[in-house]
Amino acid sequence: MSGERGELEWGGDSLSGATMDLLTPKITDITAEGLSLSGDVTGEELGITDADVVLCGILAIGLDLQAVERTICVTGVVEGMAVRQCVRCLKDFNDPVAFSIRVAYERESKAVAPTVKREAPWKKKAEPLVDVKSEEPNDDLYYYSGDHLELAPMLREQLILASPMHPLCAEDCRGLCAHCGKDLNEGPCGCAVESAESPFHVLRRMKEKIQESADR
Ligand SMILES: [Zn+2]
Ligand SMILES: [Zn+2]
Repeated sequence: MSGERGELEWGGDSLSGATMDLLTPKITDITAEGLSLSGDVTGEELGITDADVVLCGILAIGLDLQAVERTICVTGVVEGMAVRQCVRCLKDFNDPVAFSIRVAYERESKAVAPTVKREAPWKKKAEPLVDVKSEEPNDDLYYYSGDHLELAPMLREQLILASPMHPLCAEDCRGLCAHCGKDLNEGPCGCAVESAESPFHVLRRMKEKIQESADR
């Protein structure tokens, strides 16, 4: 047991600051026994813009990095708070962020084939337009070069992938009235119940009228 193995060592002679160490661990520190990293990062440090995800405060990340032969497996969790816009009522709401990471890094083999980008084996076999779900064991593959891993771009991408396509402020959000635009979560609007102009209703009313005149 070599003391604090598996814990990131803070401080030392690093001038780049704790967050930089957290997001750019040294390859040589990642062993088969694994390296655990945890700490807080800002969206800015991950290169996240408001066009990606609007974050509310920092993200807490906890990652385990493990060298498996020439691959580095990264697992862990990311937690924080995002501000999203509800697709039904268009209000901004705080949406807790919590997702797990499961990706792999391989060394970019520039020397061998500079122009050919290596792909994950399962991606090679997949038909070009097969739906994403078929890649189920979703070890997304990333590449590193030099003597550090760049975790920030991966974390940014994973955060975007983990974001809901259709955010809802509440599962039963009533949305806005299609006629007057009132937020129906705040109560019913004047236009109300009989979405009277539905063609179905109009038709029924005509039918009733015809019936009435026939009865006369
Ligand atoms: Zn809503
Ligand atoms: Zn209305």
